[in-house]
Amino acid sequence: MGFDTDRFLTAVNDDLTCCICRDVLEDPVQSPCEHAFCRSCIMAWLVHETICPEDRLPLSRASLRSLSRYMQNDLNRLQIRCCNQPYGCDHVTDLEFISSHERSCEFQCLKCPNEQCAYFASRADVERHKRSCEKGKKQCEQGCGFLINTSYDPEHNCVQELRIALEILRSEITFKYEEQKKDFDLRLDLQRNHMIQKLDALQIQVDDLTAENSRMSSRIMDMELQHRQNIERLEHEHRKVTAHTTGSARYRSMFSFKDKWKESTV
Ligand SMILES: [Zn+2]
Ligand SMILES: [Zn+2]
Ligand SMILES: [Zn+2]
Ligand SMILES: [Zn+2]
Ligand SMILES: [Zn+2]
Repeated sequence: MGFDTDRFLTAVNDDLTCCICRDVLEDPVQSPCEHAFCRSCIMAWLVHETICPEDRLPLSRASLRSLSRYMQNDLNRLQIRCCNQPYGCDHVTDLEFISSHERSCEFQCLKCPNEQCAYFASRADVERHKRSCEKGKKQCEQGCGFLINTSYDPEHNCVQELRIALEILRSEITFKYEEQKKDFDLRLDLQRNHMIQKLDALQIQVDDLTAENSRMSSRIMDMELQHRQNIERLEHEHRKVTAHTTGSARYRSMFSFKDKWKESTV
């Protein structure tokens, strides 16, 4: 099969197209009757036929020869786009160089070479993917148990791998510890602030009660003073009354003695 005419930058001369597939000649050969074909197209034709498909003149494989140098030069210089243009390659080159470009074109879509893996992408992506493809790895049998490339991996060193894994683990634990510590400190701070606020509130209550207490004390002292004064006043009055009562009794008894004395002397 030839090259699709759409892939060429300019229209291609009919002489350079295959008489069978009508595409631009690929790996061309020429018949003695001057007709040109892709090698694969005419070989497939001659399996059952013995004539030229264009002019029906007798034709055999043995009579086929290379394209004339002029035609080959014209063909070689045709400008063609890479077949991976739909995947992003914008490479354009002479037809004679296109196959070497396409063999290494990084936009060519390939399957990951690991049998179990279905990854399908551009050559460059597959190359990147291969390095980490899990399907292409197996467990190291020398002790570390890590997954390594199926093919012999001279870079692999169990001790080094374990050391790296240990470092990662250590930094993960440190990170977690720091996080927990931060969280704990934060909660402790919150509780501390809460306690301080409570303590302040209690202090205010204590101050209020102390003030109330001293007010009460001074009132009690006032009342005691008042009470003492009342008692003193009452005692004073009592003494006065007592003194007065005692005086009149003596007077009265004096009188009653005189009367008794008078009566007895009469
Ligand atoms: Zn012919
Ligand atoms: Zn052809
Ligand atoms: Zn390309
Ligand atoms: Zn893969
Ligand atoms: Zn190992």
